[in-house]
Amino acid sequence: MTARLVTGIGELTTWDAERPVLAGAAFVVEDGRIAWWGAAADAPDADERDDVGGAAVIPGFVDSHTHLVFAGDRSAEFEARMAGEPYRAGGIRTTVDATRAAADHELDAGVRRHLSEMHRQGTTTVEIKSGYGLTVHDEERALRIARRHTDETTYLGAHVVPSGSDVAEYVDLVTGPMLDACAPHARWVDVFCEKGAFDADAARAVLRAGIATGLAPRVHANQLGYGPGVQVACEVGAASADHCTYLTDADVDALASSGTVAGLLPGVEFSSRAPYPDARRLVDAGVTVALATDCNPGSSYTSSMPFVVALGVRELRLTPREALWSATAGGAASLRRDDVGHLRVGARADYAVLDAPSAVHLAYRPGVPLVRETVVGGRPVA
Ligand SMILES: [Zn+2]
Repeated sequence: MTARLVTGIGELTTWDAERPVLAGAAFVVEDGRIAWWGAAADAPDADERDDVGGAAVIPGFVDSHTHLVFAGDRSAEFEARMAGEPYRAGGIRTTVDATRAAADHELDAGVRRHLSEMHRQGTTTVEIKSGYGLTVHDEERALRIARRHTDETTYLGAHVVPSGSDVAEYVDLVTGPMLDACAPHARWVDVFCEKGAFDADAARAVLRAGIATGLAPRVHANQLGYGPGVQVACEVGAASADHCTYLTDADVDALASSGTVAGLLPGVEFSSRAPYPDARRLVDAGVTVALATDCNPGSSYTSSMPFVVALGVRELRLTPREALWSATAGGAASLRRDDVGHLRVGARADYAVLDAPSAVHLAYRPGVPLVRETVVGGRPVA
C-alpha cells in the first residue's frame, strides 16, 4: 500500500467542523482515501510526494443533478429563447425523438464526452438521470448506459408525458412495467412535478411505486412556477427537491423541517433568462442547499460546476465559501453520501487542484479554467 503526501497546498478545504479551510496544508492519500491531513510542517513521511506549489485544493465537485443520456442539440431553441421566446416543458420531446433514434454506442459516447468535460472542471461524482426515452425499452437502455459510468443513477420515466399518450395510462406504465425494467439499474426515482408535466397525485404515485421497489425519491419541483412539488418531496422523504425557484414561506418551512435538500440549478435560469432561486433565503432558514448543473441539452447545457459556483455567488446571494460547500458537501448530502464532498480522514481521495491560491477565485474569476488537476479515488482523471 503506497502512501502519497500532497503538500505545498496554499489553501486546503476539508469541511472539517473546526478547521474547514486551512492554509499551508498537506494531506496523505492511502488506498484511495484521505489518511491524514493537517499543517504541512506536521506531515508524516510518505512513499511519494506531490508538491502543488501553493495551489488551493478543494473536495471534488458533486454534481447531484444531470441528464447526460441524450442525443441531439437544441441550440436553435436556445437562440430563439434569447430572442424572446419563453421556455416550455414540452421542448423535452425534441430530445426524446433524437435520443430514441440514437444507437447505444452513440449515447454512451455522449455520456463519456460530457463526463470528460466535467472531470476537466473538477467534478468527481455525478448523478445521471434517464428521461429522454419514455418507453420501457428506451428508459431501461438509458439507465443501463448511465450505470456504466456512475452508481448514482435516477429513473426519470416521469419526465414528461410523451406525445399522443394519456396521462393516467402513462403513469400506469411508469409505475408498472417501465419501473420493473428500470429499477435494477437505478438507485433513485424522480418525477417532474410541474404544470405541463405531472401533478401532485401523479407525482406521489410515481414516487411511492419507486420507493416500493427499493428506489429512493428525489423530485423536480417548483421550477417554472409555484406548485406542490416541494411539499410532495418533503412528504415522501425525498433526498432532494431540485430547482426550488418559486417557493412560498410554507415551502421553505417544509424544507427546513425535513431532511430534504434544496437542489438549486442556476444554469437553468441563466439559459432561460429567468429569475434565479434565492439561496440566501434558504440558507438563512436552515435549509441544506446543493448546487448542481442540471446538464441537459434544453434548459441548461453546461457541465461546469465552477460556472454554477460563480452563479451561486453572484446571482443566488451565497458567499464564495457557502457556494463551494453547496457544490461539494451539499451535493453529497443530496445524494446521501458521506464518503465524498469533503476531505476529512476516511473520505474518498476525490479532489481538485486549482491554478489559484484560494477557492474564492472560482467565483472571483468566472469563466477562467482554474482546475489544474482532478483526482478520483487517488488517481488523476484530468
Ligand atoms: Zn433536471
